Amino acid sequence: MSTLPSHLELVQGIVLPKPVGADPVLDFLNTRADFAGRGPAASEWLTSYEAFVIWNGYVGLLSDASVFRLIEQAAGKPTDASRRLDAVREFQADLYDVLTDDVLTDEAAAGSFDAVARAVDRATARRHLSPVPTDGLGVRAVWELPEDLGMPLDQLALLASELLTGTARDHVRLCPGDNCGWLFLDPRGRRRWCSMATCGNRAKVRAHAARTR
Ligand SMILES: [Zn+2]
Repeated sequence: MSTLPSHLELVQGIVLPKPVGADPVLDFLNTRADFAGRGPAASEWLTSYEAFVIWNGYVGLLSDASVFRLIEQAAGKPTDASRRLDAVREFQADLYDVLTDDVLTDEAAAGSFDAVARAVDRATARRHLSPVPTDGLGVRAVWELPEDLGMPLDQLALLASELLTGTARDHVRLCPGDNCGWLFLDPRGRRRWCSMATCGNRAKVRAHAARTR
């Protein structure tokens, strides 16, 4: 059996990239690599709706029980599941544009912003407030979404809206590695690479080769 590169992990029979973004929304965008804009990526890890659901469980956005039930639902509605995966890919490309392009001056990117805003609107309309126990007085409340095939994307859309409107937005950085394209949070301004094991190491090897030439 061949061993996987250190930035990948085998999860429930599916190869997934390890989270490096320090934010689940950025790690969602990092489930493809070696891409130029909207075109197909050379490495694409969300290869099926099931892989998308398993990724959500892997990064802690869905419980094991939800992953199990959603995979069952997807198996019963394959056409719906593949349509959902298309929507996931669209949202991924649009959100990437919003985080890396100036949507205020670039018309194509402005379309991406509108698409992201619509996805957030749809998710917001579907969530409802539910009470949960608290240690103190009364109850706490949490946002809940109906557990159907649209739920994981809606959850990501809501998290994306929090990222876009919060202080973390200013700390999103793009990895300078060749053809990398991965994003990560860098609140202290000390981080250069998506991961030292991949891009950082490649750059080190290149610099070393250049020095010893
Ligand atoms: Zn990188």
